[in-house]
Amino acid sequence: MSLTETGNFRSGDFCSENFRSASFISTRNACKLCAPLGASLVMRGIEGCIPLIHGSQGCSTYIRRYVISHFREPIDIASSNFTESAAIFGGRENLFTALDNLSRSYRPLAIGVASTCLAETIGEDVPMYLRQYETERRRGGRNNAGLEPVLFYASTPSYRGTHMDGFHEAIYAAVSALAGEGKKSTKEAEAEALPRINLVSGFVSAEDIRELHDILRSFSGPPDSRGRYPYTLIPDYSETLDGPSWETYRKLPEGGTRLDDIRLMGSAAATLYLGRPSANASDAGHWLLEHRGVPLLNAELPIGIENCDSFFAVLPELWGRERPERWTEERGRLVDAYIDGHKYLNGKRALIYGEEDFICALASFLDEIGVVPVIAATGAENPGFRSRLRSVLRNAKEGTEIMDDTDFAGMLERAKFLKPDFIMGHSKGLYLARNLGVPLVRCGFPIHDRIGGQRILHLGYRGTLNLFDLICNALMEAKQTRHESGYTYI
Ligand code: SF4
Repeated sequence: MSLTETGNFRSGDFCSENFRSASFISTRNACKLCAPLGASLVMRGIEGCIPLIHGSQGCSTYIRRYVISHFREPIDIASSNFTESAAIFGGRENLFTALDNLSRSYRPLAIGVASTCLAETIGEDVPMYLRQYETERRRGGRNNAGLEPVLFYASTPSYRGTHMDGFHEAIYAAVSALAGEGKKSTKEAEAEALPRINLVSGFVSAEDIRELHDILRSFSGPPDSRGRYPYTLIPDYSETLDGPSWETYRKLPEGGTRLDDIRLMGSAAATLYLGRPSANASDAGHWLLEHRGVPLLNAELPIGIENCDSFFAVLPELWGRERPERWTEERGRLVDAYIDGHKYLNGKRALIYGEEDFICALASFLDEIGVVPVIAATGAENPGFRSRLRSVLRNAKEGTEIMDDTDFAGMLERAKFLKPDFIMGHSKGLYLARNLGVPLVRCGFPIHDRIGGQRILHLGYRGTLNLFDLICNALMEAKQTRHESGYTYI
């Protein structure tokens, strides 16, 4: 292998002999996405909120293209549109102009600003800019039609973290900007039928968010006279990114976590946070605990019976109500499916990849159904990932190779030795599946080569059942296809 002194490749270095040993210094087919992309999804999951990417136009174009291909919905993401001069002298004026334009043309309730690699590299002080803008706005010195949307800011350089870090950071930015001081008066607290809870949903599909609403509402019953349920679920892009078709185009679709509900998060009885922010992102759950005294409970995404049971056990504790019978029935159906499908799955080997939260939940589920996750991989560099993943494995502890800060080329190298029977993750894994000749079970984000990625259900007993069926059927189809005469009865 020949390398320059700086560790970069010279042209001609990419031959098959050096491909393997060189992989540790270069990223090929990254298994992570850009941080402001994750932030943009959160912002689109807040009522009347539009994301504004502070940087060059290419960043927002890339994010729009990526998100549209998964959700198959129009999504407006604004840009402060850095030019060469902004890159040298700073983007303050670009940002102010963008805030004016957005206020006038979209009339949003909130604008979420996310920074880019370029803005962070040149040291943009966006919080200071926003304070200056708000001062000018108060004095009537802006061309903003007198509109004053809430402004909040997420610091999201992609060289510091992944789309997951951007996702958690944006939740923190919205919550810390809006969740007021506010302990309720005793009278207000007594008037509540149920204590209010916060649920941070994690990076999941639009269908998953609808499922979480369904679960919460099955416990809480109908809304109060103002149409309000006793919980805040954030973010909520179940309608904004997966709504019905329209007669006429709407710049800001209806739906999203209500701003008033975010304001109430500081006086909730507890925060249930699905997933865990890495050290590269701020943590809204801890912020609510430290600044508002709201107790925090972190839980794995409810995928698999064990994780679902833990999730369903929390709600009766918080609300003092029994689990509705329908969930017992769903659980029973899932157990029955485990029994039916066991013979197809037991001892099978899987390669799973994606975000840390998703992989931990998926590994726990596969372990539970007798599948060995021989490789559990993420593109994120997260020191806590390995120990967290080990802690969720009961049977396959020794048989799982954990890869963090990795890419698809690195996964392929290891997979050639470890020989998984199937791989499971988003559509970028097609590269692996084709090279290994095994089925790809599509789930997570993004799904760019199939319809309905936003409607894949992963969470809860029903989501687990869906994943279970997908895995069984993928393996059965592969066996059927390989066999020269095929089977019609397996
Ligand atoms: S990785 Fe950085 S430069 Fe690339 S699109 Fe994302 S923010 Fe922009």
